[in-house]
Amino acid sequence: MKCIVLGSGTGIPSPSRNSAGYFLEAGGLNLLVDCGPGTMRRLVRARKGIANLDAVFITHTHPDHVSDLTPIIHALRVGGGGRRKKLTVYGPSGFKDYFDRIVLTQVRLPELFALEALEVEERMTLGSLTVQTFPTVHVEHLNSVGYRFEENGRSVVFSGDCDYSQGLIDGAHRADVLILDCCTLDSDKMEGHLSAGLAGLVAAKAEVKHLIPTHFYPIPAADSEREQECRIQFSGKITLAEDLMVFEV
Ligand SMILES: [Zn+2]
Ligand SMILES: [Zn+2]
Repeated sequence: MKCIVLGSGTGIPSPSRNSAGYFLEAGGLNLLVDCGPGTMRRLVRARKGIANLDAVFITHTHPDHVSDLTPIIHALRVGGGGRRKKLTVYGPSGFKDYFDRIVLTQVRLPELFALEALEVEERMTLGSLTVQTFPTVHVEHLNSVGYRFEENGRSVVFSGDCDYSQGLIDGAHRADVLILDCCTLDSDKMEGHLSAGLAGLVAAKAEVKHLIPTHFYPIPAADSEREQECRIQFSGKITLAEDLMVFEV
C-alpha cells in the first residue's frame, strides 16, 4: 500500500498544512480518506488527480474533513474526461442524510458514472483489501469513525479526529502504520482530540510499529516538541506528518 499525506492540518488555516486528507493506493484501488478544503488541489500537486478515484472514506462530517467532497464530485461530473467507473463515498452512521442534504443539493448526480453514498459496516471487503471501522470519541453531535485498511498482512490505520479511548486502541492494535490525531501539546489538550503525550500512549498501548502524528493545530511550539511528548510513552518509529509526504505500508 502507498499513502500520500494531502493535509496534515486542521480547520484553522496554515500556510504549510492543508486540512485533513490522505490518498491511499491499496488493493488496486485509488482511495481518499477524508477530503478537507484544498484536498483536490493537493491531489493534483501529488500528480494523482481525481479522475481515477474509486472511493472516498469520510471519518466525520466536520468541514475540515469533508468540504472538498462536493467540488470533487462536481469536477468529475463536468470535467471527468468521460469517466465511467463508479465512485463510492463511505461515511459513519448518519452520513447518507448528510450526503443527500448537503452534497446532492449542490451538485447533480453524474450522468456518465454511478455515484453511491454508503454508511460503513464494521468490516468490509473491497477486492483484496479489508476495511475495518471503529467508533472514535470526538464530538457528541456527530458520529465519527476510524478506518483500518489491511492487505497481504500489512495494515494502516487512520484515526480521524479523536480523543483517547479503548476502541481506538483496539482498532489500531499492532498496525504497521497509525496516522493519529495529535492536535496539540499536553499543556493545551483540547476536548475531543489527542494531545501529543496521549497520542504516544495510544500508539504504545496499541503496539503499533510506526506512528505518524497528524492534524496539527497551529501552536506556538516547534514540531519537535510534539515528537518529544509522543516519545515519553512510545518507543517505536515516529514520523511527523507533512503535506505531500509519501510512505509505503
Ligand atoms: Zn479535524
Ligand atoms: Zn472534527
